[in-house]
Amino acid sequence: MKLKQLLLAAFLFASGGWVQAQHTQVIAHRGYWDVAGSAQNSVAALVKADSIGCYGSEFDVWLTRDGQLVVNHDDTYQGVTFQEASAEECTSLRLANGEFVPTLRQYLAKALELKTRLILELKPHKTAAQETRAVEGIVRMIREMNLESRVEYITFSLHAAKEFVRLSPEGTPVYYLNGDLPPRELKDLGCAGPDYHFSVFKAHPEWIKECHDLGMKVNAWTVNDAEDMRWLVEQGADYITTNAPVLLQSVLK
Ligand code: MG
Repeated sequence: MKLKQLLLAAFLFASGGWVQAQHTQVIAHRGYWDVAGSAQNSVAALVKADSIGCYGSEFDVWLTRDGQLVVNHDDTYQGVTFQEASAEECTSLRLANGEFVPTLRQYLAKALELKTRLILELKPHKTAAQETRAVEGIVRMIREMNLESRVEYITFSLHAAKEFVRLSPEGTPVYYLNGDLPPRELKDLGCAGPDYHFSVFKAHPEWIKECHDLGMKVNAWTVNDAEDMRWLVEQGADYITTNAPVLLQSVLK
């Protein structure tokens, strides 16, 4: 009996160690778009990221001139600059898969049918006031749609990061993207951690452990090469954001 217990304990210890080493989660960058019928930041890309079991699906958000929130990556898309255009102008544009540019509300409405986490990036806007209005609108919509437990906010804008921390419920993960702040400063700002370009972690591999010691998580973007993925997994990165989620899933196996 004692031997059995010992063997079981050894097995649990070993498997626990293995699980810990493989804990990195997959985030599809702009959804799972590199596949037939999909397109970056399309509703289809969100659905497809969910269908392959991604931990999260990332997408980009703009505030239009008339105060609506729309989903797209580019500052200017097909000649329309989102910050300066009306929502009607923005949502009349078509994505590569034929979908119209979605509003954030349409995007989130589809998310209600899915399980994947929502990695919502607010793009940097021309003024701090616009960013504050955008954050207010996003946080309100997420609350109204009961998605508070599924959202994580990311942004290159330090102002927007502070506003997400200030305006979203305590404990909502907010990650900063710009790569220029060390872990301690992010902790002091109330961020959940860095979400930095992977080259930043290659230059500062010690930041990964520092983050973990501070109780923060580490996300790296945009990692599309298997060797870079393996390096980050070995370093203990919590999340990897990638254009190649299926490749990352196979690396993790
Ligand atoms: Mg993005």
